[in-house]
Amino acid sequence: MNSTEFSKQKGNASFAHRLLEWYKINAREMPWRIPPHDHAQGVRADPYHVWLSEVMLQQTQVATVKDYFLKFISKWPTLFDLAQSDEEDILKAWAGLGYYSRARNLKKCADFIVTEYEGQFPQNFETLKKLPGIGDYTASAIASIAFDEAVAVLDGNVERVMSRHQRIEAYFPDAKADTKAMLAHILDKEQPGEFAQATMDLGATICTPKRPACSLCPVNEDCKGFKNGDAELFPYKKPKKEKPIRKGAAFVLQNEKSEIFLCKRSQSGLLAAMTQVPTTQWNSRQDGSEDITEAPIEANWKKMGIAKHTFTHFHLELTVWYAEGINNVPIKGWWCKVEKLSEEALPTVMRKVLERALA
Ligand code: SF4
Repeated sequence: MNSTEFSKQKGNASFAHRLLEWYKINAREMPWRIPPHDHAQGVRADPYHVWLSEVMLQQTQVATVKDYFLKFISKWPTLFDLAQSDEEDILKAWAGLGYYSRARNLKKCADFIVTEYEGQFPQNFETLKKLPGIGDYTASAIASIAFDEAVAVLDGNVERVMSRHQRIEAYFPDAKADTKAMLAHILDKEQPGEFAQATMDLGATICTPKRPACSLCPVNEDCKGFKNGDAELFPYKKPKKEKPIRKGAAFVLQNEKSEIFLCKRSQSGLLAAMTQVPTTQWNSRQDGSEDITEAPIEANWKKMGIAKHTFTHFHLELTVWYAEGINNVPIKGWWCKVEKLSEEALPTVMRKVLERALA
């Protein structure tokens, strides 16, 4: 299906109109979003807020992102504030969201915009996508939502709506380019940002992955998937490759003051520069030893079970060992009070390890 064929279909002239009318009443409230009524009065979204939220929303649910977004905005109200902060502080505030290179790129991008653009976001898609850490999708979202540039914004929700509405019988992500072309053709040129957010909301609330509420859908009258009764088959996805299981061990040490020993991961590779308890040498390509002989110090170690975590390309199973009453550890690191652990840049896998050890 190409955009020309799409344009010939009956009813498509009003696709955007029907969607925008629905959005006026049904828009989801989000702390980074300008509600449709305010947008109609000329209020525009802050590009800093759009950027931050879109980076956070990659691979993460809206409900989780809301709290992180509010934390970031209260700590760093402007892009200048973020540029002046330490990367370490950003990693600490980001801890738990995963994909930590995104947090590091936030700092790089903020620095770049302050240095090269006097702290003002460039206002078009082509320039935005050249910024550090900003890919096609984020550039299109900022250009569309903050600057009303008529570019197609295709996230997973929009992909689902379009593939069902048009019964796109091609696999994603291969079908992305054609679908973007269709979207560019049908989006509302006067309100592209509202159109983008309306399509996202339709996918998130009505055209859901399972059991879409087609009877409530504002674009059901010309939806091919609905007419054919097979909407749920779309979008076509290639079968996922099985993820390998990697193994390793993690060593939780507590001193006589009940503090926990922490150290830094290396500056490159998986979870680079994040905080951890000592572990064996696992990474995305190889297992580490699960054995106590790999512990950083001899002690009365207790096996506390397995902490499991899934990364993008593999599952990890860490055997958790615990020892107490240890005051000196022969590796570089620091002691942290248990109640202060939440302030450390601990990735989710390490939080799971600590929960298992301290349960
Ligand atoms: Fe999705 Fe159903 Fe609406 Fe079609 S009619 S776009 S399948 S919710």
